[in-house]
Amino acid sequence: MANAFYTRKPEWLKIKLPHGEKLAHVCGNLNGRALHSICTSGLCPNRGECWSNGTATFMIGGDTCTRNCRFCNVTTGRPKPLDPNEIERVVDSICDLGLKHAVITSVDRDDLPDYGAAHWASMVRRLHERCPGVTVETLIPDFNGRLDLLDMVIDEHPNVISHNLETVRRLTPDVRCHATYDCSLSIIAHIASRGIRTKSGIMLGLGETPEEIYQTMDDLRAVGCEVMTIGQYLQPTENHYEVREYVHPDQFEHYRLVALEKGFRYVESAPLVRSSYHAERHVL
Ligand code: SF4
Repeated sequence: MANAFYTRKPEWLKIKLPHGEKLAHVCGNLNGRALHSICTSGLCPNRGECWSNGTATFMIGGDTCTRNCRFCNVTTGRPKPLDPNEIERVVDSICDLGLKHAVITSVDRDDLPDYGAAHWASMVRRLHERCPGVTVETLIPDFNGRLDLLDMVIDEHPNVISHNLETVRRLTPDVRCHATYDCSLSIIAHIASRGIRTKSGIMLGLGETPEEIYQTMDDLRAVGCEVMTIGQYLQPTENHYEVREYVHPDQFEHYRLVALEKGFRYVESAPLVRSSYHAERHVL
């Protein structure tokens, strides 16, 4: 059977071309400060929409990830040392863009003794200090399950902390690198136990079954996760994990309703949903 990467994408996955002054402004703002975004590094299909609306998701810790997840387009390899000025440049950029809600993620930094936790904590602290009115969502890595390192971020009180499961339990070893389903659940459980809103996301089209999706919803609810995002996996290149299915928008809507019934406070579920899509709605 032909790899779906080469087959024609369905109509509902047609992406609007980026355009407009605001998009150019976001682009210049990031490039001018040598900052990275998951919008670009992850080949996000919503870049046209989000950047045209003047928003982006910053990626800190550099542009090179120490892990090699089979779904992800971020460059993998040995990262450079952390840039101590990166945090101030990100805050400058958030101020310049006039963001009311900032979403920040990072590459995995398994090369560092604290896996990047202190850098993360400084990021949130400086944002609160310099932009007290700006709410922040941190989309964090698993810090190798080290709850003491996770506490360094929690202690800076981001408004929302998200950590993605990415896929169902059965497919996790194939799709993610080094991470485990149970470690991610333990991260989410700890965040929720500290009273911070938690959020997690999965991609569909990797070969999961509806029953496995329902089970994932139950697993997330059981550890106190309040917000869930569900989107279509898009295979970045032929070398990445093979897309198995393009799930119909009606099915995404079905999953949204099921997740709401299971008690999630907010659910974004549609083909082009990504974890930071409409993130400003999840902080309220
Ligand atoms: S959905 Fe998130 S990653 Fe994608 S363009 Fe929007 S802000 Fe960037």
